[in-house]
Amino acid sequence: MDYALGAADESYVQEIRALGARLTAQDIIARDAAGLFSREAWKELAQAGLAGLPVSAEYGGKQASAQLAVAALSALGRTFADNGLMFALGAHLWACVDPINNFGTQTQKSRWLPGLADGSLIGAHAATEPQAGSDAGAIKTVAEKTATGWRLNGLKTYVTNAPVADVFLVSAITSPERGTLGMSIFVVPRITSGLVIGPVIDKAGMRTAQMSEVHFDDCEVPADALLGAEGAGMAIFTATMLRERSFINAPIVGVLQRLADQSMEYAKTREQFGTRIATFQAVTNRIADMRVRSATAELLMYRIAWLSDTGQIRAEDAAMMKLHSSEAFMASATDAMRIHGAFGYTTAAELERMQRDAMGALLYSGTSDIQRNIIARAGRAMEIRRAQ
Ligand SMILES: Cc1cc2nc3c(=O)[nH]c(=O)nc-3n(C[C@H](O)[C@H](O)[C@H](O)COP(=O)(O)OP(=O)(O)OC[C@H]3O[C@@H](n4cnc5c(N)ncnc54)[C@H](O)[C@@H]3O)c2cc1C
Repeated sequence: MDYALGAADESYVQEIRALGARLTAQDIIARDAAGLFSREAWKELAQAGLAGLPVSAEYGGKQASAQLAVAALSALGRTFADNGLMFALGAHLWACVDPINNFGTQTQKSRWLPGLADGSLIGAHAATEPQAGSDAGAIKTVAEKTATGWRLNGLKTYVTNAPVADVFLVSAITSPERGTLGMSIFVVPRITSGLVIGPVIDKAGMRTAQMSEVHFDDCEVPADALLGAEGAGMAIFTATMLRERSFINAPIVGVLQRLADQSMEYAKTREQFGTRIATFQAVTNRIADMRVRSATAELLMYRIAWLSDTGQIRAEDAAMMKLHSSEAFMASATDAMRIHGAFGYTTAAELERMQRDAMGALLYSGTSDIQRNIIARAGRAMEIRRAQ
């Protein structure tokens, strides 16, 4: 594995790091409290090519390798304080743009990718339903064939970006009798009649990425709204999840480094008992743990990017990246808060926000329990193969 980037890519990554520092606005605390998505910052990220990272150049994208994509996204996380906006970008990229790029027809790509890549359109993926969370196959939303296309009925929930999105990927049952082969995915524009966006769902963290329910009430879409083949929905969903779990936490890798550095800086200046708290092993041990988490998350991130770029990615590799980076985020946000004492507990220190944001990472894109199931299943399969 070689993680070194060429000169042009390295300079792009540095440009993104500088952009994150420049965009880190003072209003993040107020926007977090109010749960506001920043269109201005979104536009700046898009102008820098981030909204179209994996998109082919012919559709206006950056056509970045996975290695360049994760390097750029983690560089953003290193300096940019708005975790919610970075999560909104991840949901747009990996759950909507990337599957259209990978599975769309020429017509679908020409219609959607240029706008999604330049950020004038925002993408969302509506899979979860009230009774279908971890068990994504238990969806009840149906799509019935009509003379001209499909009619969707059902309810999706916890859809990131829904309040601001222009394009939705929607999973629906097209043949109930065919089990998982009876699911299909549709590309549905926001302006479609019968698609109704619910109010913003108030939540603990990632508050600057808005989420809501999406209702489909006799929502009619043309035949060419189908993404991939009829019945290929579960296969497309699984492939999409694999890439989403691989890359969605790339910004968090940068955040983990920032938390460790920030904690070290604080420990070097804060004095108690007549000495800097950095002289207490209890404090430096925490920072050591934070640095190990940061380094291991970075290694897993570049490993998954290399596996992806060389066509070797497996479900358990993606699950390991998602599980480790999410748990590391939670643990390091908590450690940073402890090191900063009561100041860390205040809103002004911006660490309680980190902790709330980290809680979301334990849940989205498959909970940590689900990632462990995938890793354990792969381990069992390997044992069975060895025994044969
Ligand atoms: C911040 C955030 C953003 C999200 N964005 C989107 C989005 O854009 N689009 C979308 O469609 N959905 C989205 N979701 C929903 C997300 O995909 C689901 O929350 C997730 O799949 C878990 O489903 P659930 O919340 O219904 O929990 P449940 O599936 O009800 O799980 C409840 C608990 O049971 C455990 N559990 C369940 N099954 C198993 C099992 N087999 N083995 C072990 N433990 C198990 C879980 O780990 C969890 O602890 C988002 C969620 C969050 C928090």
